Amino acid sequence: GATIGILGGGQLGRMLSVAASRLGFKTCIFEPAGDCPASHVANYHFKAAYDDADALLNFARSVDVVSYEFENIPTAALDLIQDHSTIRPGRAALSTSQDRLTEKNFLSGLGLRTAPYADITDLASLTKALETFGTPAILKTRRFGYDGKGQVRINDISEAAAALEAVQGAPCVLEGFVPFSCEISVIAARSPSGEVVCYDPGENVHSDGILRTTTVPSTVPAPQRMDAVLMAAKILNALEYVGVMGLELFVTPTGLVVNEIAPRVHNSGHWTQNGCTTCQFEQHIRAIAGWPLGDGTRHSDVRMENLIGDDMDRLPALLGSNAAVHLYGKADVKTGRKMGHVNFITP
Ligand code: ATP
Ligand code: MG
Ligand code: MG
Repeated sequence: GATIGILGGGQLGRMLSVAASRLGFKTCIFEPAGDCPASHVANYHFKAAYDDADALLNFARSVDVVSYEFENIPTAALDLIQDHSTIRPGRAALSTSQDRLTEKNFLSGLGLRTAPYADITDLASLTKALETFGTPAILKTRRFGYDGKGQVRINDISEAAAALEAVQGAPCVLEGFVPFSCEISVIAARSPSGEVVCYDPGENVHSDGILRTTTVPSTVPAPQRMDAVLMAAKILNALEYVGVMGLELFVTPTGLVVNEIAPRVHNSGHWTQNGCTTCQFEQHIRAIAGWPLGDGTRHSDVRMENLIGDDMDRLPALLGSNAAVHLYGKADVKTGRKMGHVNFITP
């Protein structure tokens, strides 16, 4: 049978591996860490660094298609892999979403609304942008940010220099603050032939920059949910995307504003594991393997709750409830670390 290659060995790689295995594929992960969530379930594990050219070539030759669970894969590694295997989603999706400035230029080029943003290179450009957007505003590193890391909220223009210090001179964008009423996300998939399947947009609650809960159905009215889905389809087509993508949106009184895209399965799509016939992980494997996409219709109301750090203390009670429990097999509980999630289902 065919083998699916996955760059990254975290919980997303683990759940992709499980889904691939359920469809009869073998899985091979590439991950520098030895003991990682995906290594417990994948068939093969290339334990090597992303600058290890030999390991990357062996990996690429061992698999039929390469996908990934995170977007910050070094460009040089992708260059090596693509000569020997097909990378799905493709390079356009990666290069667009790896850099917040490129991403925002791409999204506004498609006619989608984003937060007001500016390229920040020094104190002068930051001060100018703060004068234009007002405060609060958010300074974000262009690359490598996730779970709110690499972000500084600026409440007053006098905090500009300190904010730049906090990001240690990394290239940044400044975003004007979007006064949203709620946040939603669309999980959507596209096949090589251009077929698109979108899931019902879920409503997300974050704290400290980390996703806490996703609820479907959202409180957002149906016409706006449709707008969100159409935006996702537009982005997928523009990138000639293959696989599952997460699109994060702010809901404001004047319409939807795009926050960011993730070229991969997404934490806010975990509810699909217990709310749909085909979950986001199976959908991603189907898409990258060139299979027909599955049914993404929602058959239940779901509230997904992440288990972060000490939330694991609640596990005994959850195991006795009617919630579907998903754990990632991480040995150490740490503050801010995603340990698992639960789906509370109302069929
Ligand atoms: P992840 O990739 O894990 O979703 P991230 O580190 O890329 O997170 P963002 O999605 O950019 O972070 O921001 C995290 C959260 O911070 C958002 O979901 C939102 O709640 C808030 N936030 C970010 N940017 C803005 C903004 N311009 N205006 C208002 N709130 C914002
Ligand atoms: Mg992000
Ligand atoms: Mg985000």
